[in-house]
Amino acid sequence: MTYSMSDRTFNRRDVLGFAVSAAASASLAVLRSTPCRAETTKSEESSNFRTLEELVASPIIDTHQHLWDLKKYKLPWVKRGDLMDRDYLEADYLRAVEGLNVVKTVYMEVDVDPSQQLAESEEVTAICASGSTLMKAAVVSGRPASPGFADYAARFRGDRYIKGLRQVLHGPNNSAGFCLKPEFIAGIGLLGELGLSFDLCMRPGELGDAAKLVDQCPDTRFILDHCGNPDVQAKDNSAWKRSIDELAKRDRVVCKVSGLVESAKHGAWSADDLAPYVNHVIEAFGWDRVIFAGNWPVCTVTATFAEWVNALKTIVHDRPLENQKKLFHDNAVRLYDIK
Ligand SMILES: [Zn+2]
Repeated sequence: MTYSMSDRTFNRRDVLGFAVSAAASASLAVLRSTPCRAETTKSEESSNFRTLEELVASPIIDTHQHLWDLKKYKLPWVKRGDLMDRDYLEADYLRAVEGLNVVKTVYMEVDVDPSQQLAESEEVTAICASGSTLMKAAVVSGRPASPGFADYAARFRGDRYIKGLRQVLHGPNNSAGFCLKPEFIAGIGLLGELGLSFDLCMRPGELGDAAKLVDQCPDTRFILDHCGNPDVQAKDNSAWKRSIDELAKRDRVVCKVSGLVESAKHGAWSADDLAPYVNHVIEAFGWDRVIFAGNWPVCTVTATFAEWVNALKTIVHDRPLENQKKLFHDNAVRLYDIK
């Protein structure tokens, strides 16, 4: 199998062919064990090793950190008894990212009951302002098509910590075309006037709606969540690829590299399964418009945070170090103006 890239072509064996390490501390050993390492000359090897060590130690910004306390918030989408049906608190997050050098996070709203949206935004603002956690910025919940949206969103204009809003569009109440209703488009246009971004989180078959929405809101910046939520087990991903190519033509859209392992085969996946999707979004959006995201704890349906990070590091490990740093850290600093 070969992967076609914008800047080079390499075969599967070059990059992958080993299981993803569960522990962050094993990253370097994993990267060193790739077949292409053994094929380098000694002098190349020593300089590459420095690079690899630098990569493993490189700081990460997680642009999609969920936390929730079910004693405080009602999450209507959580099913009773499900893996998500428990509290996920800061201490749990810190345990999950231990040893990975996650230095900053951007909170991502957790689709609370709409009556609690304001409380959620106030709490994460207070957390950011405390300066005592990794959280430096936040994307909060909103309902762009609702009558009170203009007043609701206006409070976040110029906010130091709140950088954007999201309404999950793949819920059972939001059918295809929902985001193209005139009220919704008006709400998203308003976000642009307020200097706020909008996160597009939708079914992969509706990415065409996203492109139309972007075109109708010329002053708004967008972040595509989770590579557009493709099913990485699908036999044919050509429709997803075409949709990504089309959306990526719009330079106001940035792609979060996340949400892939979630659809992989539980207990039987490797970086190999995710690589075509990662490589395609990088090729389509380019290195300046891709940002790493953890999507913890949702990723834990299939993988630990460390397994996902190590899979992504494995997939991109032989790309220029500068570009890897953009993906894992630098683009997020620029996009979210993180201090
Ligand atoms: Zn998420």
